[in-house]
Amino acid sequence: MDFNLNENQQSYVDMVRKFVRNEILPHILELEKKHEFPRRIIKKAWEAGILNLSIPESVKGFEIDPVSTALIIEELSYGDTGISTSAMCNDLANVVIAQHGTGSQQQEFLKPFTDAPLLASFCLTEPNAGSDNSSMTSFIRKTDQGYILNGTKCFITNASFASQYTVFCKLGKPGANLLSCVIVPVENDSRRGNEISAARGGRIVLGNPEDKLGQRLSNTASVTFEDVLIRDEQVIGDRRQGFKYVIDVLDYARPMVAAIGVGLARRAFDVTLEYTKERKQFGQRICDLPVARDAIVKMWKKVELSRMALLQAACKVQERAPNRGVYASLAKNVAAEAALFCANEGLHLHGGYGFMSEYEISKLVRDAHIIDIYEGVREVQDMIIGRELV
Ligand SMILES: Cc1cc2nc3c(=O)[nH]c(=O)nc-3n(C[C@H](O)[C@H](O)[C@H](O)COP(=O)(O)OP(=O)(O)OC[C@H]3O[C@@H](n4cnc5c(N)ncnc54)[C@H](O)[C@@H]3O)c2cc1C
Repeated sequence: MDFNLNENQQSYVDMVRKFVRNEILPHILELEKKHEFPRRIIKKAWEAGILNLSIPESVKGFEIDPVSTALIIEELSYGDTGISTSAMCNDLANVVIAQHGTGSQQQEFLKPFTDAPLLASFCLTEPNAGSDNSSMTSFIRKTDQGYILNGTKCFITNASFASQYTVFCKLGKPGANLLSCVIVPVENDSRRGNEISAARGGRIVLGNPEDKLGQRLSNTASVTFEDVLIRDEQVIGDRRQGFKYVIDVLDYARPMVAAIGVGLARRAFDVTLEYTKERKQFGQRICDLPVARDAIVKMWKKVELSRMALLQAACKVQERAPNRGVYASLAKNVAAEAALFCANEGLHLHGGYGFMSEYEISKLVRDAHIIDIYEGVREVQDMIIGRELV
C-alpha cells in the first residue's frame, strides 16, 4: 500500500491546481453572484484536458483511472463545486457508454466529446421518483420505426446546454419492472426557445434553469422527452439491464461526489485558517484562542479522514472490488459530512463576517448542502451500507 501520488497523478494535481488558481479563484465570488453558466471556464477546462476523463483511448479519450479522476475532481472542486459538478456530469452521463456500449456506439456517442467542448446530461431523477428511482415512469415502447421515448426528468445537471442526454427509462410501459438506458443526441442548431429537436426525431422541452441555493455555477433544469425516436443503436447494452447499469454508474460516480466534498471541505479549512490567523480578538489571533483552535483541529481531521475514505473508495472502484459499492457510499457520506462541518464551523469562526456574501465561506456553506443529497441522499447510502453489512 502506498499513499504517495505517482508521477502522473502528481502532474494532474499540479495542472488542475494551476487551472483553479488562474481561472477560477480570482473571480469566483463575482462569477457566482452573476449566476451565469461559466461556458468560458468549461471550454478552457476542456482544452486543458480536465473534462471527459472516462472516455476510452480507442475513441481518443483520456481513459483516466478512477483514483486519478478523484484527485482531479477534488482539485477542481477546491475552486468551485458548481463547476466541478458540471464537468464531472459528462462522465456521469458517458461512463455507461464506456462501460457497456459497443465500439460503434462509443464512436458515435463518445467521440464528439473529444472533438469539441460539449456537455452531456445524466437523466435518472423524476418529479415523483427521486431516492426511489424504481418508481420512475419515463418509458420507451417498441414501434415499427424503433422505440419511442416519453417522460419528464427533473434536477438534471447541464440540461440547458447538453448536446446529448443519457436517459434511464422503463421498458415497454410506465409501470414496467425493467429499466433501459438510451442515448438521445440533439439535432445541431435546432433550439427554439426552450424546445430542441432530438437528432432522430421527436421533441425535447427544457424547463427554465433552476434558481438554486448553492452551486450556482452549475446548470440544473428539467427535461421532457416527447415522442423521441430511439433507434436500436441508441439502446445501451442489454435493454433489460438498466438497473444494473445505474448501479455501475453510481459505484463509479459516488467517489467522484466524495471528491467534490473533500475539495470543498479543504477549501473551507484553508480560507478559515487564513482568516483566523489574521483576525485578532482578546489581544490574540483567533486561531490561538484554545476553543477556536480546537474547532480548527476538528476541521482538519474531517478533511484528512474524508480524503482517506475517498482514496479507499476510488482504489476499490479501480480494482473493481466486489465491495466497491459500500466503500463508495461510505466515502460519499463521510465527505458530505466533512464538507458541511468544515463550511459551517468555518463560517462560525469568521463571526459576523462569515455571514456576509463577500466572504467565500458563506458561498461554501450554501454549496455544501447538495453534496449530502445528489447521487443518493445520506439515508440511501446508509441503506446500501446496512444491506451489505447484514
Ligand atoms: C443541484 C442538483 C443537481 C442534480 N443533478 C442530477 C442529475 O444530473 N441527474 C439526475 O438524475 N438527478 C440529479 N439530481 C437529483 C438528485 O439526485 C435527487 O434530488 C436526490 O437523489 C434525492 O431525490 P429527491 O430530491 O426526490 O428527494 P427524496 O427522495 O424525496 O428524499 C427527500 C428526503 O427524504 C428522506 N429519505 C429519502 N429516502 C429515504 C430512505 N430510504 N430512508 C430514510 N429517509 C429517506 C431523506 O431525508 C431525503 O433527503 C440533482 C439534484 C440537485 C438538487
